[in-house]
Amino acid sequence: MTKEELRRFFLDRGDQAFRGNQVYEWLWNKSLHSFEEMSNISKATRVMLEEHFVINHIKVDSMQRSADGTIKNGIRLHDGLIVESVLIPTDTRTTACVSSQVGCSLDCKFCATARLKRMRNLNPDEIYDQVVAIDQQSRLYHQQRLSNIVFMGMGEPLMNYNNVLKAIDKITSPEGLGMSAKRITLSTSGVPKMIKKMADDCVKFHLAVSLHSAIDEVRTSIMPFNKIFPLDDLADALQYWYQKTKRKVTYEYVVWDGINDGRKDIAALVEFCKIIPAKVNLIEYNPIDDGEFRQASSRAVNNYISHLEMNDIVVNVRRSRGKDIDAACGQLANKN
Ligand code: SAH
Repeated sequence: MTKEELRRFFLDRGDQAFRGNQVYEWLWNKSLHSFEEMSNISKATRVMLEEHFVINHIKVDSMQRSADGTIKNGIRLHDGLIVESVLIPTDTRTTACVSSQVGCSLDCKFCATARLKRMRNLNPDEIYDQVVAIDQQSRLYHQQRLSNIVFMGMGEPLMNYNNVLKAIDKITSPEGLGMSAKRITLSTSGVPKMIKKMADDCVKFHLAVSLHSAIDEVRTSIMPFNKIFPLDDLADALQYWYQKTKRKVTYEYVVWDGINDGRKDIAALVEFCKIIPAKVNLIEYNPIDDGEFRQASSRAVNNYISHLEMNDIVVNVRRSRGKDIDAACGQLANKN
């Protein structure tokens, strides 16, 4: 419920509207999981709340720590389903990688999450609570508050757009975590209509697109939904995004042996990067155990880097984190 709805609930019962503010604050600022603990609310009101409402909070069910400090959480939802979220520490910051759906409806051939059927969308509070849980871990294990959030866990955030947006509103609101939207990145496989919608909604967070190939046939072979959302439509949506927001996009890109490591693949990526201002993150491939995909040689990756740099395109190489506990990109599959 919104704060307004809670205020109205109390008013309609002949009570005072500010009770709604109090309950709201307990739920969102203090992340309480029971009415019992709401100490500035009378016993009778707490009992009444118990009778009317449930708090469907998440529970950190399992926690694994990688040798590199990355923590993977198995999060149990109120209906027993599980999603995973990850805390990734570096020297200077801590990043939460959160899930937006249970499973995923997309079918990227190289991603372990794609093998789980999409069971349902996460609610705004379930997304928000993952961030709260990871913020608490960041404070506990790294003595600092969470600094960044990436929507790169399970699911396709643009196929659960409204809930993701509501969660981000709460994360950035002073009534929630008060984090800056500039520290949030939403990663999408590229749903053109929804990229335009984000532009129309003037969102303030960053956009990353999992590109992996700028050639339709290649991209369709590894990300079959590219048949429905081909690169021309994606390019068109990205132009719309840039016109409206004036913000550049990040392309996530894995180079695989024999799949996209040729000259024509590099040339196509360079051309695609000219559509709107963009930078490229070359991600290390995290094997998901069937051998069809193999990380390309460092020579092939260096070829990409030199051609992109020659064309004045910023490129970063991203090392995997938490690989030993299956917490790296594309490895979240509720193995436990
Ligand atoms: N559905 C969203 C967010 C989840 S995936 C999206 O597609 O962007 C987060 C990132 O991990 C994406 O860039 C995805 O392409 C990448 N990824 C998936 N499987 C991977 C793997 N096995 N190794 C490396 N990166 C992978």
